[in-house]
Amino acid sequence: MIRWLVPRRAVRRLVDLDPAELVGQGIRGVILDVDNTLLGPGETDPSPEVVAWMEALRRAGLRAVLVSNALPSRIRGICEQLGCPAVGGLPKPNPWRLRRAMAVLRTGPRETAAIGDQLFTDVLPANLLGLYTVLVEPLEPREFLTTRILRWVERLIGRGRILQEAGEQESAPEGRTRIQTDPGRRWR
Ligand SMILES: [Mg+2]
Repeated sequence: MIRWLVPRRAVRRLVDLDPAELVGQGIRGVILDVDNTLLGPGETDPSPEVVAWMEALRRAGLRAVLVSNALPSRIRGICEQLGCPAVGGLPKPNPWRLRRAMAVLRTGPRETAAIGDQLFTDVLPANLLGLYTVLVEPLEPREFLTTRILRWVERLIGRGRILQEAGEQESAPEGRTRIQTDPGRRWR
C-alpha cells in the first residue's frame, strides 16, 4: 500500500518544478490538481507566478489539463485565466477521470505527469495508472473538511516517511522543509 503512495518527485511549490525537467523525463502532458496546488482553497485567481509557470509549460511544448472536485463555475474561471481545459465528473480519487484527462491531453500514462498536494487523491490513483507523480506541499493550511480528514490519515501513515521514500529531505534556510528528489529515480 505504502509504495503506491510514494510520488516519483516531491517539490515545495509547483513553480519550483522546471518544465524542462518534465520534458527530460519524456513527459508531454500534465494533469494538475487545483486547490492547494495551483492556488489556495476557494480562491479564484491564480498568482502571476503560477500564470507565468503555465506559460513556461506551454513554451516547453507541454499540454496541461486541470482535474478538480471544485465547483465547475470556479474551475471555468481558472481555466480561462490559465488557458487550459479541465476535466470534471465523479470526484477524485478516480482513475477514470485521469484516463479522461489523458484523452484530452492525447498522451499515454508514461508521457503524463500528475501534480497535486494530496497522497490519496492525487498521488495514489496516478501511481496506480503508471503516471509520473509529483507531490507539492499544500499552499495554505486552510482546507476543506474532507481534505482535513485525509490529512489526518496521511499523518497516521506518516507523510514524512513517504517523502523520505521519495527522496532525501533537506532543511531550507527559512526553516521550512524543502524536498528535492532525484527526478530520474525509479521507485518501482
Ligand atoms: Mg489539492
